[in-house]
Amino acid sequence: MAQLQQTWNNSQFFSGSDDPRIATVVDQLKQDIQALGDRCAPFVDYIEQAESFVPGENPEVETVMAAIASIHRQRITVIEQQRNLGVFISSILSVDTQDKSAAAWLPTLQQLGAERTQALQPLNIFLIRVPDAFITTLLDKSEVEDLSFYINHQRQRRDFLLSVAQEKLITGLAVNGLHSWGNLYDDLAGDLKCDIEGESMGLAKAANLLSHPQRSTREAAWHGIRAAWSSREKTAATLLNSINGWRLEAAKHRSQKREMHYLDKSCHESCIERQTLDTLMQTTYEQRSIGQRALNAMAQVLEIDCMAPWDTMAAAPVAMETESDIGFEAAIALISDAFSRLSPEMGEFAVMMAEKGWIDAKPTPNRTTGAYCTGFSMPREPRVFMTYEGTMNNVMTLAHELGHAWHNWVMRDLPMMRTSYPMTLAETASIFAETLVRDALLEKADTPEKKLAITWQNAQSAASFLVNIPARFEFEKRLVETRKKGFVVADALKQMMANSWQVWYEDSLSHYDDMFWASKLHFSISQIGFYNYPYLFGYLFSLGLYAQQNTYGDRFNQLYTDLLRDTGSMTAEAVVQKHLQQDIRQPEFWQASLAIVDGSVRQFEQLVNEMAGQTTGAIA
Ligand SMILES: [Zn+2]
Repeated sequence: MAQLQQTWNNSQFFSGSDDPRIATVVDQLKQDIQALGDRCAPFVDYIEQAESFVPGENPEVETVMAAIASIHRQRITVIEQQRNLGVFISSILSVDTQDKSAAAWLPTLQQLGAERTQALQPLNIFLIRVPDAFITTLLDKSEVEDLSFYINHQRQRRDFLLSVAQEKLITGLAVNGLHSWGNLYDDLAGDLKCDIEGESMGLAKAANLLSHPQRSTREAAWHGIRAAWSSREKTAATLLNSINGWRLEAAKHRSQKREMHYLDKSCHESCIERQTLDTLMQTTYEQRSIGQRALNAMAQVLEIDCMAPWDTMAAAPVAMETESDIGFEAAIALISDAFSRLSPEMGEFAVMMAEKGWIDAKPTPNRTTGAYCTGFSMPREPRVFMTYEGTMNNVMTLAHELGHAWHNWVMRDLPMMRTSYPMTLAETASIFAETLVRDALLEKADTPEKKLAITWQNAQSAASFLVNIPARFEFEKRLVETRKKGFVVADALKQMMANSWQVWYEDSLSHYDDMFWASKLHFSISQIGFYNYPYLFGYLFSLGLYAQQNTYGDRFNQLYTDLLRDTGSMTAEAVVQKHLQQDIRQPEFWQASLAIVDGSVRQFEQLVNEMAGQTTGAIA
């Protein structure tokens, strides 16, 4: 085995944030985007007569199709270059948030992104407006067949489309409007200081204390975070109102032909049908007691009457023997072993990621918090970022991100337009990878304490996915509905959040987190609304898929790989129908996954009871 690297090496792309080639690439991109815009400009006129573009009737059809194929090739090159540069700049900033030259490129990159969207808008709108016959003939051409899913999916938004001028105006204004609100949230969160047990600290450090083994420290951290956000509640409320107000205003203008419902828009972005979302939420609501039971059993382990919001993230009170000293190499070996149970290639892949220097996990000063998987476009290479300090949680995070990386890796030979998958399907491979590792660990665990430490994480996931995520969904729905009627003040947001928690948590928590609308970053992401249910979808979908291993045996790995490869070119309903012959619009599919969660919560409850019995026995 070659030497494993804990720091990534991206020097093949640029030598650093001060590489003079960055400015050259940016200049080139500006020119290329300008050229794309020039080539798309004639489509403004074509849109006016879009209906007349019928193959066999309109002599211009062939010329226009040839132009589209050529613009498409050019677009791919631009996207690949933009992505390589973007991934490189953010890779520098993740490791060193203080890198001023990297930070200075960010606004330019955001601007270039908006300019590309604007440049292509006439073509994109044309493709949405032309008759079906034009699209059928166009997609028969091998140069553009990779656009098939993308175009057909966009065409479903036909009724909501505005004129080219209006679409360009919205995209342009959003850079300094809508998205500035999102940036402002990040600035605010970055500057906020919390007072915790006499120490002043930033939010990231404070959030880490929510998993502290000492309950009083967790409680102090929770109150500290709450107080910090309360001191800025007016600003945070203005942010949420502005983001949602902007979206509602845009939706109003798009609803001339028929109403564009905010959940339909979200479902379209998630590549699922509204019926699937409704079934998912309803079925989960009926079984919310599974997550609530997990919380009650966790309370028993913590020896408290009832869980509080500051307990839900607590680390398992029974530490694994090896906790806090699993070296990075050992973690890769452990993950690789677990992955190999599914397929040797997947096991080798985990090792390769570390050998090639595609993971950055070494704790260093000034690095950013959190973990993510990303990837360069030319050549297709995944990257994983996290801070590895040797805890069992770190091992699981690493497994999770390597799962994402595997997903990208099995798609590396597909045309780029078929590789971007929706959020609903994005968490499939990551949670699947986590489950592989957790199951391997559980099998190896030879004492009740070790077993409890692992099943504790299962219980924590059950509570978070089956209760917390739906409570966020409940809140966001209420927020959008209320915002339609006017500005929602901070006090009303607090009440709304508490009520939403009540619906899902009921009496499984002693308090509800009424400042969660401010402290949870997800509600203030400007690019996407309803950044919540896709996690629940991914969790249940991945567990359901995992359970199919028994049914398919040796054939499973191929089925799993084929399924992952289709995630960028099909709706979720079609992917599941094709590979598993099941219908996710029906409750049965979700009930089967919920039964798996129920089983793992039961296993946890049983362990808790056995250990409680032992303790009582020992005292007697
Ligand atoms: Zn993930």
